[in-house]
Amino acid sequence: MIPETSGRLDAGAGLPPAMSTRSPSPFSLAGENGVLELSATMREDLLDLDAWGEVLKTYGRTMRVAVALTDTGGLLLGKCHNPQPVWSLVRGAASDWGAACPFCITKHLPCAAVADAVRTSAVATVHDQAGLTHVAVPLTLGKQTLGAIIAGQVFDRFPEQLLLRRVARDFGISAQELWEVAKKERPVASALLQASGDLLGALGHAFLQQRHGAILEKKLAETNDRFRWLAEGVRDYALFTTDTTGSVTSWNVGAERMLGYAQAEIVGRNFSCILSPEDVHGRLTENQLSKALQTGRAEYEGWSVRRTQGQFWANVNITALSNEAGPIQGFAIIMQDMTERKKIAIVLEEAQRERARLQEKFLSHVSHELRTPLTAIYFFTTNVLDGVFGDLNPEQRKHLTFALDNVGQLKVMVSDLLDITRVETHKLALAHQPTSLVKVTAEVLSTCRTNAAAKNIDIRSDVAPNLHFVWADPARVRQILTNLIDNGIKFTPDGGTITVKSQVFAEDHDFVCVSVSDSGCGISADNCKIIFDRLAQVKGSGEVSRSGLGLGLFISKELVSRLGGRIWLDSHPGHGSTFYFTLPAFSLAKYCSHIFSAANLDAGSVTLIAVDVVEVKRGAQADILREIRQILERCIDAGQEVLLPATGDEWPIVTFFIVACTDAKGLAVIANRILRDLQCFDKTSQLKPSISSTTLQVAHGQSREEQIHDVTVRIESSVQEHLLGKERIK
Ligand code: ADP
Repeated sequence: MIPETSGRLDAGAGLPPAMSTRSPSPFSLAGENGVLELSATMREDLLDLDAWGEVLKTYGRTMRVAVALTDTGGLLLGKCHNPQPVWSLVRGAASDWGAACPFCITKHLPCAAVADAVRTSAVATVHDQAGLTHVAVPLTLGKQTLGAIIAGQVFDRFPEQLLLRRVARDFGISAQELWEVAKKERPVASALLQASGDLLGALGHAFLQQRHGAILEKKLAETNDRFRWLAEGVRDYALFTTDTTGSVTSWNVGAERMLGYAQAEIVGRNFSCILSPEDVHGRLTENQLSKALQTGRAEYEGWSVRRTQGQFWANVNITALSNEAGPIQGFAIIMQDMTERKKIAIVLEEAQRERARLQEKFLSHVSHELRTPLTAIYFFTTNVLDGVFGDLNPEQRKHLTFALDNVGQLKVMVSDLLDITRVETHKLALAHQPTSLVKVTAEVLSTCRTNAAAKNIDIRSDVAPNLHFVWADPARVRQILTNLIDNGIKFTPDGGTITVKSQVFAEDHDFVCVSVSDSGCGISADNCKIIFDRLAQVKGSGEVSRSGLGLGLFISKELVSRLGGRIWLDSHPGHGSTFYFTLPAFSLAKYCSHIFSAANLDAGSVTLIAVDVVEVKRGAQADILREIRQILERCIDAGQEVLLPATGDEWPIVTFFIVACTDAKGLAVIANRILRDLQCFDKTSQLKPSISSTTLQVAHGQSREEQIHDVTVRIESSVQEHLLGKERIK
């Protein structure tokens, strides 16, 4: 079928100015900036035909035209007709006519005028080739077009034969019959129809706005109802509002129930009457309201007071209330009674304190009442085994050796328990110092070799030459390494191998990585995930596991992490395991960085002072070392000199090193001060201090980093040289 609207005229062509096809829409909501975004349901509600029916019908009847509501695509949402006989005829003859544009008198065509009106947001008028006039009025709210109203008539002049025949054919009625009916019609002048476009627009716009208002009002009423229901129904929360000064303006049932005040007695009072005297004194209300004023919200927990003076612990949530972008009008406050939770928290805190107290008690019990007898058993058993109390027969020796092994195991378990308690009570003390992994590994291996030899296990050590010292507590590094090697021995069958390696950590050169590999039973992937947990023991490791408590790896992990490294493993069941841990490498440059300022380096030299303390009479104790260190700390100027961590602290000559950025005069002052103070400290002259120094030139023409690197390397080698010289004297 040829669309009847194909001959639609161009805008305004042939029409007098007053009847221009497009005039600015008088009914779009001027001033709205399009911010209003309508939901799909709202759009549907706004164009509800039931609501529009009366308006459209009245207009149609008055103007003797047909009127329809369309969506923005011009598709009909519904239509109303004046009772013209032509319509009745068409409707009666074609049951499916509803899909057609009622004005073009053709089926299945959206009205072309709508497209124009929607595109331009203005009234559009179209004359089609058949001589019919359509007026389309866009329905817009803000900047959004929702649809259109179209108005038109069947014939605005007596129909032409051609058109009559086409309509008759389209709707399956007789052309003769149609002619009979049509010629009785009194057509509306097309000019009048066009002029009425503005009227229709104004009508549509007014109705659309009224409908929008009505929908919003309905929704608001629903929301208010819901809020009222919520506010009244929520009995476990106190919901109330205040003005900007904190004076109560509304009070819900929950508030009445929680705080004991009836709405009538509290409205108008400041809500500080429900705060504890301490909070009122501390100006809590003012502080919280001013926070809510600034940020929109404030939340706190504290004691609140009921009308009966009883107190309860409340969570208080304050929200500032304002009109959009307007000034703050007041506050909405929600209070929740958290007393039960608070009571539980208090009980929990008390339980935690009690636990800590018990742990501490346990710590001192274990250390004094378990360790002391254990040490005595160990001491006497060793003496008996060493033959101090006479010879032993082989049977006695076998049983005593077994007893000694078990005492050893018990000692390890006791010290594990002590460590766990120290970890949990944050009492695990670490004494960081530059630590030689070469030395620590050698010490650990010498003690582990006996156990390994009993199982014919070969222990190999592979420590990189020139390995950096690590910055760690040597006793703790020994403990970690011993635990890993002992586990390796425990879980490796007779004749196996254990390898200990230490090298610079490939992923980060500021760390050293130590690994302990065994050729034992290995650990499944699932067990690898839990192996470092407290009390973790792999099921099925049987008898062997029973000799431990499942604490060793947990403690090792704690120790490594507190030393600044990390621990992990790589294992395959049946193919052995490798445990790795890293420790921070000791950096002399970092340790001395605060004295290597530009001014100090530019002065041209750095001095290494060695303070040798010689033990004249035997018997110097470890405590004396600490005291000498403290004296030296006091003798130096922290901004110019640094006392290095202990390196050569074995009697009969103990050496302390100081890096100094001072001139010759300054050095003489420090040296005199040190000698004087040490002599004052040791009046019995059991110790003989002597001081020597080495001056290291700072190279010119290097970057600051290069200068520091160069100087620290030379300090390290001077320290080693001095210690070697000292060894020779000993
Ligand atoms: P325990 O003192 O019981 O050995 P650990 O924490 O040191 O406690 O080890 C926990 C568990 O991890 C052990 O019981 C054992 O099942 C498993 N395990 C530890 N090291 C190894 C290893 N080298 N090979 C196989 N299993 C191991």
